[in-house]
Amino acid sequence: MAKRDYYDILGVARNASDEEIKKAYRKLAMKYHPDRNQGRDGAAAKEYEEKFKEAKEAYEVLSDPQKRAAYDRFGHAGVDPTAAGGFAGGQGFGSFAEAFGDIFGDIFGGGRSGRSGAYRGADLRYNMEITLEQAARGFTTDIRVPSWDHCETCDGTGAKPGTKPRTCSTCGGSGAVRITQGFFSIQQTCPTCHGSGRVIADPCGACHGEGRIKRNKVLEVNIPAGIDEGQRIRLAGKGEPGLNGGPPGDLYVEIRIKPHEVFQRDGDDLHCEVPIPITTAALGGEVEVATLTDKVSITIPEGTQNGKTFRLRGKGIKGVRSAYPGDLYCHIVVEVPVRLNDKQKKLLRELDASLKEGGAKHAPQSKSFMERVKGIFTAE
Ligand SMILES: [Zn+2]
Ligand SMILES: [Zn+2]
Repeated sequence: MAKRDYYDILGVARNASDEEIKKAYRKLAMKYHPDRNQGRDGAAAKEYEEKFKEAKEAYEVLSDPQKRAAYDRFGHAGVDPTAAGGFAGGQGFGSFAEAFGDIFGDIFGGGRSGRSGAYRGADLRYNMEITLEQAARGFTTDIRVPSWDHCETCDGTGAKPGTKPRTCSTCGGSGAVRITQGFFSIQQTCPTCHGSGRVIADPCGACHGEGRIKRNKVLEVNIPAGIDEGQRIRLAGKGEPGLNGGPPGDLYVEIRIKPHEVFQRDGDDLHCEVPIPITTAALGGEVEVATLTDKVSITIPEGTQNGKTFRLRGKGIKGVRSAYPGDLYCHIVVEVPVRLNDKQKKLLRELDASLKEGGAKHAPQSKSFMERVKGIFTAE
């Protein structure tokens, strides 16, 4: 199939100006770019895709003075797309934003900060440190987040009231300049206006020419009961404002939980150490244990050993997405008495003598340990 003439594809005259070529391409790209035609079915989508490729190729040749000159003299043979690079087939299209925002930013007279490209505002993250009790209960609080507000004094123009931003004289308002070196012609962001195409001679005093003002915004945040370390709460639309009419970003409140003096959290479960006197461990008894919300009493059976764990069902935390609360695990620590007086020492010695009389039955762990040790020596 014969290749169509580039000028015919764009629908412009052979003596069309650069401006006319840009305009014609922009119109076609708006119509045929795949991102704009996702609703179309297979055959129609394919046809549009081909049309876009064709227009892109024509534009890339005709917008480049050297390629255009070669095309005018030699036709398609002068600008073999497979040799030229940059628009050979199979490269994909790039995104719609790329086609208009970055690569062909000059179509709109400016790059990222140009007048036409709408950008979504950045997402913000806010770190919030809370206590374990707060996490378990949930609560509502106010947070202050720095944010940019439209400057009322200059109505966002950045120019002192009564004055206006001028069109940049370096680039004539396009935001870009062309530097020619020998055969090459390179387009660069305008150094005077940094791509905005405008120069503010008299900046607004309130915003220093930014057109926006940094303020602390107070937002109410609802922390749901059961939230855990690292979980995030999304406040839709509370991030940075969008540019040129783009939507704002989101604000994420990320939760950190302060270490607790008593409890360690593991998902919905809580763990704590419960010290008990050696006498309670031996004789049994009641011990009071604190949970996150109240106090409960646990029964220590006679002969409880160090490290024994008691599970209190439902005394953990009910996670944000859990149906039931977790459990509280109490790890028993048997405390050896210290700073004994003479009388206490005497009593303990008497106890010791009595236990020895009774033999190994009072200390099954020591007995089995001694037997295992003996086993090591006799095995040799
Ligand atoms: Zn201002
Ligand atoms: Zn400029």
